[in-house]
Amino acid sequence: MKVFWAPKGGAALEGVNSLIYMRIILIGPPGAGKGTQAEKLAACKNVPRITTGDLFRRAVQEKTALGLRVQNYLEKGALVPDEVVLGLMSERMSQSDCKAGFVLDGFPRTLGQATGLEKWMEKNGLRFDAVIALEIPDDEAVVRISGRRQCGACGAAYHVNFQPPKNAGVCDKCGGSLLQRKDDEEGTIRHRLQVYAEETAPLIRFYDRAGFLKKVDGLKNPDVVFQAICSLIK
Ligand code: ADP
Ligand code: ADP
Ligand code: ZN
Repeated sequence: MKVFWAPKGGAALEGVNSLIYMRIILIGPPGAGKGTQAEKLAACKNVPRITTGDLFRRAVQEKTALGLRVQNYLEKGALVPDEVVLGLMSERMSQSDCKAGFVLDGFPRTLGQATGLEKWMEKNGLRFDAVIALEIPDDEAVVRISGRRQCGACGAAYHVNFQPPKNAGVCDKCGGSLLQRKDDEEGTIRHRLQVYAEETAPLIRFYDRAGFLKKVDGLKNPDVVFQAICSLIK
């Protein structure tokens, strides 16, 4: 298949049909709003949101071989080894629903993963439209993550103060119970922020040098953040 790419920053057109292709990476510390924004962006661009954290959590829940391998890392707030993440992601990004693109949430998280991803993209004749860095201070991250709740049934996300459900502990969308992630307790959050600063923050410079990076103030309310992102990837 012949791939035509629009100028840098624009959306790509593939072949003769006029489908819009959109490949985006969201980077940011835990709590920056990656999941919240990835969900909106994926729905708006009609491409899947791929969240490594959710893929791992599901594997742990289902006790698959992958789940058994990664459980310890998730509980401690440590990063899963690059080769495991890259194996999982190259398989996921090759599935048919990814033909028109994807929004990556939580991947890549290390320079090794970014390099592996770049090789995979090159091999497949693809490139990114944008890398969005969501910025928030650590104290805000702690407040957000400690109040984060997720529906055990449908995965919808809430915050006890900033995005509360209509009835405490109950999902507005499906009536499921809202749960707190084990790794969203304060001790683990601080560790995850440290891991982010050491392993993931260097990616911001990496993508900045490559000319892809767009920074967005993640402190604004979710709709304002979303508008800012949309205006950058038009
Ligand atoms: P991440 O995926 O980057 O860890 P989430 O999207 O899960 O972040 O958001 C973390 C928590 O903060 C959630 O409880 C979410 O409801 C809340 N949240 C997300 N975006 C905002 C925002 N712009 N302002 C206030 N709270 C937010
Ligand atoms: P958050 O939304 O708070 O940023 P995630 O749900 O993305 O957290 O990730 C939860 C955990 O899953 C991480 O602490 C880590 O153990 C594992 N994980 C997720 N994505 C990756 C990745 N790209 N590389 C290594 N580990 C990952
Ligand atoms: Zn639900």
